[in-house]
Amino acid sequence: MMGTQLEAAAGGLITAAMKAAARAEGVSAEAVRRQVESGRAVIPCNPAHKNLRPAVVGRAFRTKVNANIGRSPEVSSARGEMRKLLAALEAGADTVMDLSVGAGLGRIRRRIIAGCPVPVGTVPIYEAFCRADGRIERLDSQLILDVIAEQAEEGVDFMTLHAGVLRRMLPLAMRRKLGIVSRGGAIIARWMCRFGRENPLYERWGDVLEICRRHDVTVSLGDGLRPGCQADASDAAQFAELETLGELVRISRRAGVQAMVEGPGHIPFDQIEMNIRREQKICSGAPFYVLGPVVTDVAPGYDHISAAIGATAAAFYGASLLCYVTPSEHLGLPTAEEVRTGVVAFRIAAHAADIALGIPGARQRDDAMAEARMKMDWRAQFRLALDGRMAAGRFRKSGRSIPEGSDHCTMCGRDFCAVRASREMRRRAK
Ligand code: SF4
Repeated sequence: MMGTQLEAAAGGLITAAMKAAARAEGVSAEAVRRQVESGRAVIPCNPAHKNLRPAVVGRAFRTKVNANIGRSPEVSSARGEMRKLLAALEAGADTVMDLSVGAGLGRIRRRIIAGCPVPVGTVPIYEAFCRADGRIERLDSQLILDVIAEQAEEGVDFMTLHAGVLRRMLPLAMRRKLGIVSRGGAIIARWMCRFGRENPLYERWGDVLEICRRHDVTVSLGDGLRPGCQADASDAAQFAELETLGELVRISRRAGVQAMVEGPGHIPFDQIEMNIRREQKICSGAPFYVLGPVVTDVAPGYDHISAAIGATAAAFYGASLLCYVTPSEHLGLPTAEEVRTGVVAFRIAAHAADIALGIPGARQRDDAMAEARMKMDWRAQFRLALDGRMAAGRFRKSGRSIPEGSDHCTMCGRDFCAVRASREMRRRAK
């Protein structure tokens, strides 16, 4: 294919990636092409990423779930992160982001790309800052561009780029309760303060787009000023950055580069609808990729639940890609098991929204589950479950064996089992 998915779509062409994504969604390739052409959907699909199963991200399609993995400077290893990758894929993640920082991050990223059949995203400013030895004065725009180009050559499918944080917004962020909570946003802000200059990604956005166009990398416009607590939600800093992100979406599209927009963060439940609708308007319908949002700040240890509540609402009102949150959020780097828990929590959120939105195929799965429950067909129930392994494990733990099955479970017991009673009444009525 010559050019990007967006350029192909605009030229009326249906690419192999569009066909594959359409098959996975159960829709026509032309429907996918039209959405990509309008910019309302993206197919993160770098041709250098071999063995990739292309997926389309957009509100017209099934809600997707992203899992963040990657080592921190203090914990984990390449082997540990590969275990997390397998856990995320097994649990059903649609995309994976490698957020590694510290030693050996290039090696980890290359292993993740080689072993990952779903789109892989990164945050290039992390590697640029590592190569600058964590010293802000050694970071410059050329180093950032070099890292973007190298990661694009390696096959990264989408990149979070915090190009919307501008100097004039920093005083707004400093008035907040929690300031800046985005790692990438904080690096850019420190650089602007140190040199008294504008965001290097914003200033060299044309060069960034040239690299992304060449490798068909999808830009994911990072929300460097996302709110980090309920008190900072929907404030002037957040919405000032959003205006810039809208401008960058339009410039990216004109350059033939696919763009999506990242969103908050920590948002009270009643503000989610307003936030999503505002993003859709300002960013010309670009796919919205939200982190949670977390709807209360007082649930550490259970933030996957707090965030899944917000994610369900976000997807229902228009978000296309949900970035998972694990039980370790705000506390530490997640383990492989916590990665798995986070992905499952967000698949539940995504699926709940898809049912309410009438996404083809979503409700049918629930109807099949209801039939399996009525038949007491435990095998079918575990097959249909979003986490069949967990469901089967709990069933066994309750003392039941799957091959022999049961016409009730230990929850109510045989004589109080309402489903069993319904089956009997139905049999007699025949
Ligand atoms: S015992 Fe209770 S929970 Fe279990 S299948 Fe019957 S009605 Fe459902």
